[in-house]
Amino acid sequence: MSLVDLRSDTVTRPTPGMRRAMAEAEVGDDVYAEDPTVTALEERVAALFGHEAGLFVPSGTMGNQIGMRLVCEPGQEVLSDADAHVVTYEMGAAAAIFGISTRTVVSSGGRLDAQQLIDQVRPKDNWHLTATAAIAVENTHNRGGGLVQPLGELQELWDWSRDADVAVHLDGARIWNASVASGVELATYGRLADTASVCFSKGLGTPVGSVLVASAERVATARLWRKRLGGGMRQVGVLAAACRYALDHHLPRLGEDHEHAQLLAKRLGVDPSSVETNMVVLDDVPAPVIAEAAKAQGVLVSQVSPRRIRLVTHLDVGRAGIDRAADVLSELLAR
Ligand SMILES: *Cc1c(COP(=O)(O)O)cnc(C)c1O
Repeated sequence: MSLVDLRSDTVTRPTPGMRRAMAEAEVGDDVYAEDPTVTALEERVAALFGHEAGLFVPSGTMGNQIGMRLVCEPGQEVLSDADAHVVTYEMGAAAAIFGISTRTVVSSGGRLDAQQLIDQVRPKDNWHLTATAAIAVENTHNRGGGLVQPLGELQELWDWSRDADVAVHLDGARIWNASVASGVELATYGRLADTASVCFSKGLGTPVGSVLVASAERVATARLWRKRLGGGMRQVGVLAAACRYALDHHLPRLGEDHEHAQLLAKRLGVDPSSVETNMVVLDDVPAPVIAEAAKAQGVLVSQVSPRRIRLVTHLDVGRAGIDRAADVLSELLAR
């Protein structure tokens, strides 16, 4: 029995086509900025998001952390949602590595409320207060169940931030899903951020890789930080080729994952309107019991808390797998 693994969209394996693209990649030493495949990817992604430059980094965590460091000095703070990936899953890196302080606001399920964040910003010229240098926004919001941030709120935050001298960092690990679901262009999202990190190893299905986009000047500084963090890589055109392949072949199919999430929601009694992209959240369920029983039947799900299960659709689970997961889980939930 083959497993239906819905724990995360990170579990995908490179397809035969992607592996061929990797094998055939033209490469060079990227620490010398001489890997043509990496350079081309950085330029392509920067253009997609309306930024001057991009930097290939091994992980979304490194993209986020360098991105925040570019717009926040040690001893200043980054403000974010309390459930943001940057403060939940990145091991306190901003503090541990950069001396950056973070402060959070509890939002309504991760949904961006620009005014709520703006109200919490502390000025840079007051010697009593920790200065808020930047605000980090996550789109789609992971712990928010893959929700797409409202464009109006992003725009309001951006417009306010220009006069306020506060930077905006976008954690766009799944910005692709946001764009596909909302129809908002990637460049529109990109232009509402000073720095943005986007991932290839989630719904786009590469083994590794993220790109940080920003101004050319900031990306030059980011290159130094990447090296300092041990993220300087050599002939990684093999990895950038996987990302190029993903843009060509996997980005156009992301809508299928969203349709699969809708199917699961309908079969499992979840309000389909609460499912905006590729995640389905089952609330008020005995998570360990359901997860164990589902696993025994070959369906893997993720336990976010003792009462919450998360299902994430992705390119390695086709319609047949979705139907099987729905059969197994609906039967367990009815017990
Ligand atoms: C996965 C993810 C990241 C990056 O995580 P890495 O494991 O470091 O690649 C960043 N932000 C969000 C919202 C994510 O889901």
